[in-house]
Amino acid sequence: MVSAISIKDLHVSYYGTEAIKGVSLAVEPGNLVGIIGPNGAGKSTILKAMLNLIPSDKGEVKVLGRSIKEARKKIAYVPQRNTIDWDFPITVLDVVLIGTYPHLRLFRRPKKQEKAWALECLGRVGMQDYMKRQIGELSGGQQQRVFLARALAQNADIFFLDEPFVGVDVTSEETIVQILKELCRQGKTVIVVHHDLSKANDYFDQLILLNKELIGFGSVSQVFKPEIIEKAYKGQLAVLNETGVST
Ligand code: ADP
Ligand code: MG
Repeated sequence: MVSAISIKDLHVSYYGTEAIKGVSLAVEPGNLVGIIGPNGAGKSTILKAMLNLIPSDKGEVKVLGRSIKEARKKIAYVPQRNTIDWDFPITVLDVVLIGTYPHLRLFRRPKKQEKAWALECLGRVGMQDYMKRQIGELSGGQQQRVFLARALAQNADIFFLDEPFVGVDVTSEETIVQILKELCRQGKTVIVVHHDLSKANDYFDQLILLNKELIGFGSVSQVFKPEIIEKAYKGQLAVLNETGVST
C-alpha cells in the first residue's frame, strides 16, 4: 500500500534558523492525524512544507507516492483563519465554487453542475442557507465550516487543516470533527494542526508530536503519555495537569 504522506529527513529554516529539524514519518490512508506541540514548535511550518508552500532546505515529501506537484489536485488545504483576509468581498457560494476550479477545464466558467456540487458541500457543513452572504459577515465557526465545504468541493484525498477550531463555537467544532471522521471512514487522510491537548484523545487516530524535531509519532495511545508529551512541552507541564493527561 502506498502511504498517503511520506516525509524523509525534512529540514526547514527561516533566515538561517531551523524551524523543522530532520523529520521523517509516513502516514497511511484513512487516518485522522493531529499535529501537536507547543507554540512555535513548527506545526504550521511543517504543514506548509508538506504542501510545498514554503521551500525546505533538505528532505523529501511524497503524497500518495508522488511529488506534491503531481498530487496537487488530490490535496485540499484549509489555512489558519487569522491568515485569511476576511474583508475580501466574496460570497459564501463563490468561496466554495473556488474548490471546484481544479476540475474545470481552462476558460470554462462554473456552470450548473459545479454550482449544484458546491451547494451540496455547503449542505454537508450546514451552511446552505448562507450561500449569498459575504464571507466576512459570518462568525468564526461559520467561516471555518465554509472553508471546509470548499475543501470538500475539491474532492481531495488528503486534507490539511491548520488550527481549524480556533475562534470556533462548540457546535461548529463538533460538526467539523464529525465530517473529518467521516472522510477518514471513506479512506481519506486528514492532517490537523491542533494546539489544544485536551481533545487530542477524542479527535485523532494518530499524533505527530513536534517541537522542531519529531518527538513522537504513532497512535494516540502510543504518543499521549506524560513522559513523551513532557519532552515536547518541557517547562509547560502545568497545562498537562489541567487537561488530565497525567494519568
Ligand atoms: P507553530 O505553528 O507550531 O506555532 P510555526 O510553524 O508558525 O509554529 O513557527 C515555527 C517557528 O518559525 C517559530 O519560531 C516562528 O517564529 C518561526 N517562523 C514562522 N514563520 C516565519 C516566517 N515567515 N519568518 C520567520 N520566522 C518564522
Ligand atoms: Mg501555527
